[in-house]
Amino acid sequence: MRDASNGAASSAPLMLAWDAQSQIHLIIGANSLAAARCAKSLEVGARPIIIATETADLHFSLAEHISTGAAHLISRDFEDSDLTSLGREEVDGVVDMVFITLGGQHALSRHISQKCRRLRIPVNVSDAPDLCSFTLLSTYSDGPLHIGITTSGRGCKLASRLRREIAAFLPKNLGSAIDRLGSVRRKLWEEDHAAGLSDAALEVDDDDTTGQKHTFNNLVTEGDMAAAKTRRIRWLSQICEYWPLRKLTAITDADINEILKAYSSSNHMNETNGVNGVSKKGKIILAGSGPGHPDLLTRATYNAIQNADIILADKLVPSPVLDLIPRRTELHIARKFPGNADQAQEELLQMGLAALQKGQQGDPYLYGRGAEEFEFFRAQGYPPVVLPGITSALSASLFADIPATHRGVSDQVLICTGTGRKGAAPEPPAYVPTQTVVFLMALHRLSALVEVLTEYAPDDLERTRALWPKDTPCAIVERASCPDQRVIRSTLKNVCQAFEAAGSRPPGLLVVGASCHVLHGPGDSKWAIEEGFSGLDELHSEIQDLALSQEI
Ligand code: SAH
Repeated sequence: MRDASNGAASSAPLMLAWDAQSQIHLIIGANSLAAARCAKSLEVGARPIIIATETADLHFSLAEHISTGAAHLISRDFEDSDLTSLGREEVDGVVDMVFITLGGQHALSRHISQKCRRLRIPVNVSDAPDLCSFTLLSTYSDGPLHIGITTSGRGCKLASRLRREIAAFLPKNLGSAIDRLGSVRRKLWEEDHAAGLSDAALEVDDDDTTGQKHTFNNLVTEGDMAAAKTRRIRWLSQICEYWPLRKLTAITDADINEILKAYSSSNHMNETNGVNGVSKKGKIILAGSGPGHPDLLTRATYNAIQNADIILADKLVPSPVLDLIPRRTELHIARKFPGNADQAQEELLQMGLAALQKGQQGDPYLYGRGAEEFEFFRAQGYPPVVLPGITSALSASLFADIPATHRGVSDQVLICTGTGRKGAAPEPPAYVPTQTVVFLMALHRLSALVEVLTEYAPDDLERTRALWPKDTPCAIVERASCPDQRVIRSTLKNVCQAFEAAGSRPPGLLVVGASCHVLHGPGDSKWAIEEGFSGLDELHSEIQDLALSQEI
């Protein structure tokens, strides 16, 4: 990639969390910038050495650090040998990092920068991006959480503004919640490890760069003992992925203990949450909450949310919708994770009896177990009111610019599930060239699904079902209508490879059919990934701007 403004290469920088404990940082200069660099070095546990000419005015805070012994001052001109003699013994005296605060015009800046590069010492020169091998980030920290922002040397003040806005968006106490969840994870891992589970089963993964693997939502089947034994850790991963941050940060040690107790054995469907039997008269509403964006709620569902005493939400109902729930209202989120759906559902039904309000993602009757819930509550004498919701099956494709029907291309839509009861594979639909097929709950077994759509099973001797051509266009649509919506456009031939490369961002579905190419024709590459969705929020602000300009 080339940067049009200055012709320099503008690849993304490699952003790191560098352990600088005990490092020696050389700071050239004694001005206010040197003072800021010194403070930063001390903050990260490094030992700063300041080199400044005898005549230089020492910034007052530098003088303070020097007087306390936190920083060391060498009052003379810089010498080349400083770079290789002032550092730690264990690295043969080479310093770990150099900050030059004399500005890009100073002859010494270029000279030292070149020397540092030759010695592979990371170097930063104030106001001279071309002399820097690294730049510092505008950072926000809360306990173990650190967020860094760079504008790639554009030097504008936007970075600190962005940092403030991001920090303001995050809930309070996120740092301690991360600490708490992290130590629970560690403890579970150690217990599972002590119980003799292999590293493969434990899926050790402490690297922040990796998102969810494409196997994240794989089912835990009854025969898969190793996976079943790690159910507590898998459940923890699930709440970290699905729970609203607000709820995660409010979690207490007691909450965690209680929840984990319920998941410590495979037979864990008992007295959890202390909800037993019917506790009061009331009304149950099964309310569809749409695919994710709060603007896609019906007014009926919105009113139900506002007036409920207790809300039981499906795991997939995303935070912006849950954020509409008044703070005083009790909220329970279904403890569903792959392989645990039946128990979690039973638990929700029991709680529903005691509590009497149920939030369903999408539309309650579309793979939402809405009718089962209806029957259950009716049998208990509480026939629910059911409120429809916009289903992800049709809206996800819309938000991915895929018209489910289109004149001359697609004249029918089929909605199917990729997962049958107890994880079994359902009957695959036969190829119909003018059909758009939407597969829900299918991505965790995408390759098996694609295989069965495009090839005959060895034991299928009749071979009567029409197979889907491998070049049929398709798209994976994940977190449709949410800010982190992602669309992967590909063909049946390449989609599995694409998904494996991109990883999983649940919930997601697969759309298959010629309609995928109506608004986005085939590209040159095997797949294309589109990130983000802001259509509804932009519409919001445009309408507001318009109203404002009319008032004026
Ligand atoms: N009742 C829901 C569907 C429940 S089944 C509805 O009408 O939308 C759960 C499946 O819905 C997920 O596995 C996924 O395939 C799909 N899904 C739900 N929300 C989604 C979203 N925002 N984006 C993409 N797929 C979604």
